[in-house]
Amino acid sequence: MEVEGALRIFNRSEVLNNLRYTQYLGDGDFKAYKAVLESKPYKDVNIEKLECVGHVEKRMGTRLRALKLKLKGKKLEDKKSLGGRNRLTDAEIDKLQRYYGLAIRNNSGNLSAMKQAIWAIFFHKISTDLNSQHGLCPLGDDSWCGYNRSKLKGDTYKHKHNLPIAIMHCIKKVFRDLSSPELLSRCLHDKTQNCNESLNSVIWSIIPKTVFVQLGTVKTGVYESISIYNQGLITKLKVLDLLNIQPGFYTCRALQEADHARIRKAEKAISRRTK
Ligand SMILES: [Zn+2]
Repeated sequence: MEVEGALRIFNRSEVLNNLRYTQYLGDGDFKAYKAVLESKPYKDVNIEKLECVGHVEKRMGTRLRALKLKLKGKKLEDKKSLGGRNRLTDAEIDKLQRYYGLAIRNNSGNLSAMKQAIWAIFFHKISTDLNSQHGLCPLGDDSWCGYNRSKLKGDTYKHKHNLPIAIMHCIKKVFRDLSSPELLSRCLHDKTQNCNESLNSVIWSIIPKTVFVQLGTVKTGVYESISIYNQGLITKLKVLDLLNIQPGFYTCRALQEADHARIRKAEKAISRRTK
């Protein structure tokens, strides 16, 4: 969140809405949060900082990519480089980031389970046929751990997706930092900034960032975006009504249909099956 926006929202909340915000959900950027604290919007009320789970998830990828860049051209303990074929590729980093995000999201509200799930990824990845370490991986026939699934069925499991030990030693610190209780305790809520981001995208779709417009247009665009965001396209009919314009049959039907389609798409996206 921008500093100015955060300051305004916090400092007007008591006057405008007679309420105090006790939690601040932001991305990794501490600037706006610090500014809010320094402005002391409420007397004797502690404002807790929460992290956007989506932004924390991305830190895994950012840290690993930075490490790869830093160690470019250098040899690890096995005399090979960090990147390259069958090593820490970009695809592998994306996967680790996704698994890390799932470990946080699937264990919301439970710090120790969250921490264990993160380390399960590490030990699952370091496991080999000679030295399997799947003790932290989930059990059961719907487990993501192929080793534990095979064990349940009595099959033998061949480790094909593991990473060389030298690499795992090299990235262990990233796992340690990103599983710290201080960080994870701010992620227990399982919330993201996605709703803010998606409001932004509605605004930019109506008044593109790339086109210069006057203040009046910006304001109208923001009002329109907020009403569409909160109540759907159907809200346009109310505006027309207030302007004494009678909308036609097909206008009403098209707006209704577009709203229904949007809801159907959203419901599908959040269904358990899709996830
Ligand atoms: Zn495993």
